[in-house]
Amino acid sequence: MNCPTGKRLYFDKLTAEEALIEARIRFEHNSAITVYQCDDCGQWHLTSKGEMNTTLKELLENGTIKKEREALNWSMKFKRNF
Ligand SMILES: [Zn+2]
Repeated sequence: MNCPTGKRLYFDKLTAEEALIEARIRFEHNSAITVYQCDDCGQWHLTSKGEMNTTLKELLENGTIKKEREALNWSMKFKRNF
């Protein structure tokens, strides 16, 4: 099923939150800050509007996002060397 908004769909809130967090780790300037259930398709999307998701906020504040990003950067460097 596709959504008229053209946004990527997630089946539930947890999956959407995981995608939100992963997007933030991979792309430092990712603008998505929270997830919402869509009125059009009933599924979940990421959005840059509204209040920041509490899980994402916590992970940003306790440094987990930064740590994960550094780990990811290192693993990408590692791969490039081979
Ligand atoms: Zn939708």
